[in-house]
Amino acid sequence: MTTMESLIGLVNRIQRACTVLGDHGGGESAFSSLWEALPSVAVVGGQSSGKSSVLESIVGRDFLPRGSGIVTRRPLVLQLHKTEEGSEEYAEFLHLPKRRFTDFALVRKEIQDETDRVTGKTKQISPIPIHLSIYSPNVVNLTLIDLPGLTKVAVEGQPESIVKDIEDMVRSYVEKPNCIILAISPANQDIATSDAIKLAREVDPSGDRTFGVLTKLDLMDKGTNALDYNFSAKLVTAVHVTPFALPLVITAREFVLEGRAYRLQHPWVGIVNRSQAEINRNVDMMAARRKEREYFATSADYSHLASRMGSEYLAKLLSKHLESVIRARIPSITSLINKNIDELEAELDRLGRPVGADAGAQLYTILELCRAFDKVFKEHLDGGRPGGDRIYGVFDNQLPAALRKLPFDRYLSLQNVKKVVTEADGYQPHLIAPEQGYRRLIEGALNYFKGPAEASVDAVHFVLKELVRKSIAETKELKRFPTLQNELAGAAYQALEKFRDESRKTITRLVDMESSYLTVDFFRRLPQEMEKVGNPAANNVDRYAEGHFRRIASNVSSYVNMVSDTLRNSIPKAVVHCQVREAKHSLLNYFYTQIGKREGKQLGQMLDEDPALMERRQQCAKRLELYKSARDEIESVSWAR
Ligand code: GDP
Ligand code: MG
Repeated sequence: MTTMESLIGLVNRIQRACTVLGDHGGGESAFSSLWEALPSVAVVGGQSSGKSSVLESIVGRDFLPRGSGIVTRRPLVLQLHKTEEGSEEYAEFLHLPKRRFTDFALVRKEIQDETDRVTGKTKQISPIPIHLSIYSPNVVNLTLIDLPGLTKVAVEGQPESIVKDIEDMVRSYVEKPNCIILAISPANQDIATSDAIKLAREVDPSGDRTFGVLTKLDLMDKGTNALDYNFSAKLVTAVHVTPFALPLVITAREFVLEGRAYRLQHPWVGIVNRSQAEINRNVDMMAARRKEREYFATSADYSHLASRMGSEYLAKLLSKHLESVIRARIPSITSLINKNIDELEAELDRLGRPVGADAGAQLYTILELCRAFDKVFKEHLDGGRPGGDRIYGVFDNQLPAALRKLPFDRYLSLQNVKKVVTEADGYQPHLIAPEQGYRRLIEGALNYFKGPAEASVDAVHFVLKELVRKSIAETKELKRFPTLQNELAGAAYQALEKFRDESRKTITRLVDMESSYLTVDFFRRLPQEMEKVGNPAANNVDRYAEGHFRRIASNVSSYVNMVSDTLRNSIPKAVVHCQVREAKHSLLNYFYTQIGKREGKQLGQMLDEDPALMERRQQCAKRLELYKSARDEIESVSWAR
């Protein structure tokens, strides 16, 4: 069977966990509030209506700050835990988890101090609740929230807005559909002016969740000078004559509430608290309870109702009601919790799970991340993602265009050919063919190829660098690790530079190779062709004429074109071999050997994340823990049923 203790204890535990997480309802949190889903009992009433007195007599202890003006300036969440008969009574604040208060005068002082800690001494109010648990054999399991008293005027030193601020704060509690309202009205005042009833009626028009409490019955009975005594008298008469005879009660209530229909579904409870004089005399709470019991038992008006009057009865009534409300709410609380768990799990997946603290786990994570990056990078090169085609663009467009633009026309102009050939001959002009002249001309021409070759190397380097940058940005898993992103980019760029240097050396060598050994066949074919074309007799004359140099220029030009064709094919091969293939296979090799040598602390630093993201993840994780433990709690209670 589910006991009352286990159900209310369940809500108490969840509420405490909520407060630890800063969830005390209200919209300021980015998370949906579990707190708001939980039932609670809020004490509402005008100043000096007897709220603190009611709370204290329910607890059976003196512990609330007293004084004139607004004494309660922060909500006080008071959780009562019934302990075994004979065990010692003590109190605990949530903000002082290690300290047990057995002296209740110190509890009162701590409430005051803790109020001031948040609000300052300025008599401001704050919606952040103070959590106080009282463990005692003399209480019933119950959670009550003491709220600032509703007031009509600001006292000295308080801003004018305080009247509205208090009302807003109180309303923010009582307007929640899960809030049970304990509406306190002093019996010696006109109930039609009761702040508590006015507000309760506004937020709970059906009266389903409002409990009416009349304090100061003793004062009324003594015939104090109550102005509109009649209204209250009629009400109380109705209550005590036939407390459950609804029609009569309704009539009375409707009457007192200016004729508008407002019925409470629960019977009113009358209370007699300690008078100011008794407080001053330090009459203890147990004695006061006794006195209250005696009052109802011996009163001519109330004796027949004695079992349904007084603070002890009120406590039991509330506890029982709270239990049934909680029982009814459990399915919806469970489904809210499950929904939140799902959402938080999804968000945590999105944010990335926390990384283990040991070096092994960190190294593993880093390697996994590198692999993820590497996969994206390869997809860019091999297709599947755009980018690799730009490398082909270098070979197919840029390189041929650059080769075409080389200034061979100028270099092989008649004038230059003549100059180079003549200079190469020295003092002895050539006899048959200008062997040296050809060599010089060709070597000079081949040098021009270095430019486009190097430009190809640089262009591909640039594309690869860009792909590294893009791949890092596109690797989802890396998003949360800016430091690792930087390190990875740095390492990859460094590797690419190494590949570029290799590539440069290789293409320089390719070009140099063309100069170091010329294709013999090409030149062997030349004399025959010349013979075919010209008249051999004219040759000697020609040797020093324009036609001779023109022929040399044209021969060199066709040789250079042949080399150009070769290089147009071999430069891409060299570039792919040295840069692209290496990038694909060993971009991070050096990085891997480096991080293998790092200490745990350095690895941890590489996995540094954006503080805001870490904060959010921590919040999600904590909240998830709360919901999971709440779910476990609820399950264990449900199992006990
Ligand atoms: P709060 O401002 O609503 O918390 O009101 P308190 O509980 O501080 O009570 C205000 C004053 O009314 C105190 O002097 C109490 O002694 C007195 N008081 C409260 N309830 C009763 C009651 O039932 N009978 C008598 N005689 N005095 C009461
Ligand atoms: Mg008070």
